[in-house]
Formats: sequence, structure tokens, C-alpha cells
Amino acid sequence: MLALDAKHGTARLLSRRRWTPKLLSFRLARDPSFRFVPGQFARLGLRKPNGSPVWRAYSIASAPWDDHLEFYSIIVPGGQFTPLLDSLEPGDEIMIERTAYGFLTTSRFADGRDLWLLATGTGLAPFLSILQDEDTWRRFERLVLVHGVRESAELAYWEEIDALRCHPLWADVGERLAYQPVLSRDRSAGALAGRIPALLDDGTLEAHVGLRISPEHSRLMVCGSPDMVRDTHRALIAKGCRLSRLAAPAQIAVENGW
Ligand SMILES: Cc1cc2nc3c(=O)[nH]c(=O)nc-3n(C[C@H](O)[C@H](O)[C@H](O)COP(=O)(O)OP(=O)(O)OC[C@H]3O[C@@H](n4cnc5c(N)ncnc54)[C@H](O)[C@@H]3O)c2cc1C
Repeated sequence: MLALDAKHGTARLLSRRRWTPKLLSFRLARDPSFRFVPGQFARLGLRKPNGSPVWRAYSIASAPWDDHLEFYSIIVPGGQFTPLLDSLEPGDEIMIERTAYGFLTTSRFADGRDLWLLATGTGLAPFLSILQDEDTWRRFERLVLVHGVRESAELAYWEEIDALRCHPLWADVGERLAYQPVLSRDRSAGALAGRIPALLDDGTLEAHVGLRISPEHSRLMVCGSPDMVRDTHRALIAKGCRLSRLAAPAQIAVENGW
């Protein structure tokens, strides 16, 4: 990481991977001094053509031990940051704050048997990092990753998620992970149709996964569009769960995806 000042540095773009015209992943070289807890986000900066900086939050999708940082991004037409991001090539530099932020981490929960990770769109990113943490696999008996998108082409990372079960560090408990795609505008074998909050309300999601949500056993992390986070939070409260706070650990942790 090249030093810009005490708080900011720059990192080299190593590679990009395009999933759809509006979804891409990218990797940055990681300075060994950049530390994060799975579930946290980085703040990335680019310069507009007039030279002024624009900073955006990005959840880290890679493992805490990787020597790169991976991010999963939407491209918003007309957005200030993402069209600039879309125009970068490997070798280009991105500004990065030296500190990781955020509380969407499993340390929010004091205990629990089942970990539910409920995401829409790029809200998947923090859960990819959490699922590459051995502690996640050892601490919870069941891991349920639910990814809601519009169309099946947006089910990024499904092959990587599938392969996670065979990771040598936790292959002995690899069957703990259930992956449940949800499509709101498409149909596909194995995917549920609809939206996560509605599938929670009518019990379809729990029935399909074969696991009940209960305040005693379930710990639930939610990341996605503000509407989805609000409605999912409401659906979980109706099941008796409560937002987890540092002073009062409970069942739910949420983060708005923008
Ligand atoms: C804690 C946190 C973590 C975030 N992590 C990610 C991440 O991992 N990946 C990512 O792509 N974005 C993430 N974002 C959003 C990101 O910071 C930017 O808002 C986004 O990249 C668009 O930037 P922009 O300047 O092009 O458009 P903006 O002007 O920032 O956004 C314009 C509009 O685009 C829509 N939008 C913004 N972000 C998204 C999104 N991710 N998915 C769908 N619609 C969106 C919203 O309607 C928003 O009003 C995160 C935001 C927060 C607060």
C-alpha cells in the first residue's frame, strides 16, 4: 500500500471478474498491515475527472488470510463511484482507508446453534468472508446462506460457495452449509421464487431448508437493499427474535447494503 497520508493509502487493482454487465468482482493487493474481521467493510476511493475524490464503503468478500482483498460490486449507471470503477484496468491504483469498519460480525452473538446469512444482491459479499472463517464452521452446527437476486444470472459465486464445503480446513463439517438461492423475477431448479421477507413470513424458507428459526437456536445476519433489510428484520421480530446489541446480545445483526 502506498502512503497517501496517515489514514489513507493506495492499492493496486490485481484483477476483475465480470458476472453480468452490471456486476463485477475485483481484487486489490493487500497491505499486510490492513486487518479486518470477516463481515467488515473497507472504504475505497477514486478520483473524478476533475481530481476530486469520491469514497464508497465496500464489504470485503475475501478470507482474512488472503494476501489480496476481494470485493463484489454493482455498477450503477450515473453513479459517482461505480462507473469510474468500471473503467479501471489491472495495474491501476485505488485509494483505500487503512482501517476496516463495521459490526456485521459473528462476534455480535454470544452463542447460538444455527447461523442464518440472509443477503440480496451484493449484500452477499460480507457473508462470503464470514464463510471463509474456520471459526464460523466450528462454532455453528448449521450454516444457512440465502441469496436473493432477480435473475439466475445474478447468482454470483454459487460455484465458489458450493466448493467451500470441501475446504481442507473444515471439510469434516462441510455438510453444515445449506445454500438457498431465491429468485424474484426468474425460475430455476432448486431456487425459491419470491422475496426473502415473504418467504420468511409464510414459512416457505424454513420448510425448504428444513430448519426452524427460533430465538433459542437461531442467529441471523441480514445484508442487502434497505427495503429488504427492513422487511426481513420485521419478519424475524415476528418470530420472536431481537436485534443484537453490544450491551444486550440477541439474535439479529443487520447492515444496509447502501
Ligand atoms: C456498509 C456498506 C457496505 C457496502 N458494500 C458494498 C458492496 O460490497 N458492494 C457494492 O456494490 N456496494 C456496496 N455498498 C454501496 C457502495 O458504497 C456504493 O453505494 C455503490 O457502489 C454505488 O456507488 P455509486 O457512487 O456508483 O452510486 P451511489 O450514488 O452511491 O448510489 C446510487 C444508487 O444506486 C443504488 N445502489 C447503491 N449501491 C447498490 C448496491 N450495492 N446494489 C444495488 N443498488 C445499489 C441505490 O439506489 C443508490 O441510491 C456498501 C455500502 C455500505 C454503506
